Amino acid sequence: CGIVGVIGKENTVDILLNGLKKLEYRGYDSAGVYVNDQDGHDYLVKTKGRIAALEEKIGPEVKGTMGIGHTRWATHGVPSDSNAHPHVSADGRFFLVHNGVINNFAQLRDQYLSDVDLVSQTDTEVVVQLIAHFAATENLSGKEAFRKTLTLLDGSYAFLLVDRTQADKLYVAKNKSPLLIGVGDGFNVVCSDAMAMLAETKDFIELHDGEMVTVTKNDIAIETVAGEAVTRASYHVDMDA
Ligand code: GLU
Repeated sequence: CGIVGVIGKENTVDILLNGLKKLEYRGYDSAGVYVNDQDGHDYLVKTKGRIAALEEKIGPEVKGTMGIGHTRWATHGVPSDSNAHPHVSADGRFFLVHNGVINNFAQLRDQYLSDVDLVSQTDTEVVVQLIAHFAATENLSGKEAFRKTLTLLDGSYAFLLVDRTQADKLYVAKNKSPLLIGVGDGFNVVCSDAMAMLAETKDFIELHDGEMVTVTKNDIAIETVAGEAVTRASYHVDMDA
């Protein structure tokens, strides 16, 4: 029910947890984070239950300079640790958080993923496994595998994706679920609601349906899934966290 992401900050874990807490009021049944220190170490921590329970599960070794976080409101699969997001592909390469519902997930699973052992009951896991499948079988970059997957989906989504072989980037896409990019100086953030990131920035770029974004610490590149570059100014929010 909530999504947060950050790239280019030392205190990534704190920013993700604080952001998720700002979204708690929306309701949720599980929470999780994926964090990468961009120096060969990464961590996936997720749990059924409260953000306080997630915080307890996050040991002192969990540090990073980029990461993604999620609060889940289950639509497919009961609330459980394994159904909590982020979801990871079987090859360990891609990490995905999702708000929304993918209507045709069962059909896509049956068509493309008969060889993959799914570890959750979610529609979301099918998406991350599809990205890994197309990257491997069609030799696509992470970004192009994401784009191809997006063209196959029927449903609503706000996605935040990490390809751990390209940990200097966050990939973003949306359709019928809210998602914003928050603009920083030497860092950038992503959130489903500006509330989550007002402590980090007051400048946000709105995304439209059918767009995908590559976010690095210094750059925000928006394009349509069809591949056309998009230019959009940020707006300023006059509100305190
Ligand atoms: N459909 C996904 C799930 O059930 C995402 C739910 C959400 O928006 O939190 O895991």
